[in-house]
Amino acid sequence: VGLIDGWKYCPRCASVLAGDAARVECAACGFVAYGSSVPGAEAVLLDGEGRVLLGRRRFEPRLGYWDLPGGFLEEGEEPLDALRREVREETQLEVEPLRFLGHWNEPYDGRVVLCLTWLARGLGDPRPGDDLVELKWFAASEIPWDELAFTHYPAALSAGLGKQYAQSAGLDPQLDG
Ligand SMILES: [Zn+2]
Repeated sequence: VGLIDGWKYCPRCASVLAGDAARVECAACGFVAYGSSVPGAEAVLLDGEGRVLLGRRRFEPRLGYWDLPGGFLEEGEEPLDALRREVREETQLEVEPLRFLGHWNEPYDGRVVLCLTWLARGLGDPRPGDDLVELKWFAASEIPWDELAFTHYPAALSAGLGKQYAQSAGLDPQLDG
């Protein structure tokens, strides 16, 4: 399922659209939309002891599962500005980026999010925003691998946290170390 799947009518003039999951076009007004991934920014956020911060989701999708702090980029927004803004909204923490970990495509709520993921230090005292039930720092051995919200989190966490975390997840450290 993608962003423009099932679009039938032009959002600009309400005429019938023609096209497919990759591209739709309105013959009446010339409106065109593409089925693009949506960029998001997120952090594997560490405290001074190397523990990682996860938040338990208050809403669907994946209600009750553990989330990395982050969110969608606004149009034209720099990814690191989006990361700082979203982490502040969700945790009240300030972000000190350490290094870029990578990017992952993640199915989310009928679209695909291109997740840009940083390893970062979280500065301050975490307090959960409106879309989280709680925030908690997890040591390597405590990470709830079976209750993570999204499919790329084991790869992102092991990329950010090193071999002992990959081993505690039952992943092959040779793959992700
Ligand atoms: Zn139109």
